[in-house]
Amino acid sequence: MHQLRWHAVLQQWVVVTTDRQNRPQMPANWCPFDPGSGRVPDHYDVYLYPNDFPAFSPDADPFEPFSMPAHKGRPTPGALAQAELFAETGPRGACDVVLYSPEHTLPPSKLGLENWKKVVEVWTGRTREHADNPDIAMVAVFENCGEAVGVTMPHPHGQIYAMPFIPPISQRELASSREYAAAHNGECLFCRLMEKEEEARARMVAANDHFAAFVPFAARFPAEIGLYARRHASTLLELTEQERSSLAEIISIIRQKYDNLYGFVMPLMMTVKQGPLRETEPPYHLHVQFLPLQRSATKLKYLASIETAYGTFLADTAPEEMAENLRKAKPISNL
Ligand SMILES: [Zn+2]
Ligand SMILES: [Zn+2]
Repeated sequence: MHQLRWHAVLQQWVVVTTDRQNRPQMPANWCPFDPGSGRVPDHYDVYLYPNDFPAFSPDADPFEPFSMPAHKGRPTPGALAQAELFAETGPRGACDVVLYSPEHTLPPSKLGLENWKKVVEVWTGRTREHADNPDIAMVAVFENCGEAVGVTMPHPHGQIYAMPFIPPISQRELASSREYAAAHNGECLFCRLMEKEEEARARMVAANDHFAAFVPFAARFPAEIGLYARRHASTLLELTEQERSSLAEIISIIRQKYDNLYGFVMPLMMTVKQGPLRETEPPYHLHVQFLPLQRSATKLKYLASIETAYGTFLADTAPEEMAENLRKAKPISNL
């Protein structure tokens, strides 16, 4: 079974893909991502690998919900009233794995700058390909890192999901940004937030010519970082080569800082958040969210009832304190 089911109460899509349950147990000493496995080239630096058990797939049925435009991701009120409570549709899209390095046990914080640059080029190139495909509404680029995030494969890798709809949190971000612009002469909410953080300084972590990283004022995760493009851009496609290279550099710095914070690989989610592909000048600002799950050297942050069922986060750490710790963690960045 491989379909999207409409959650009528939360008004969002759930991907039902039972094939993933049948993922084979890998032999302990064999990794499909290693050169020589037969599944990847014998020599590579960074490699785009099609996900063997994709949540979204080009072969799946098309996304045709409620006879609404595919890129909206949410039905109009009229369509919703008439929609079946048990609506379903096809998860047409694409899922890829990005192998960061041929080295099986290399933590991403040890990845060389040249490899990070190639990773950013792969993210951008794949986003460009999806931009030409009318089936795709938005491209999600992310990495789950560490067993605490449920990753069983130590080989350094991230993922790219090309989705046929705008997922709910992105919709909410777009709605906030649209509302802010309407009330502030078209100003970008994200640009303004970044400016305010740079003025305040207390939560800044690292910066270079093209990007600024800070612990958000209302961080939901311990040592959460928002990395914002200094110049207003909605997707990776709008960055210049120099900006992409700067992005690689600051990601490398942040990942090193995280692993130096407690002296081990920080379990985290890293998400490159881009605006919708089928909208001209969407009110969205390209940024990277780092969401770590470690709230101290010995304690993990679990998403429990209040976070998961109600959507309200309890933060056990002061954002300003975490920012200071991250600023002091090596490598120190000029601010
Ligand atoms: Zn491997
Ligand atoms: Zn902006």
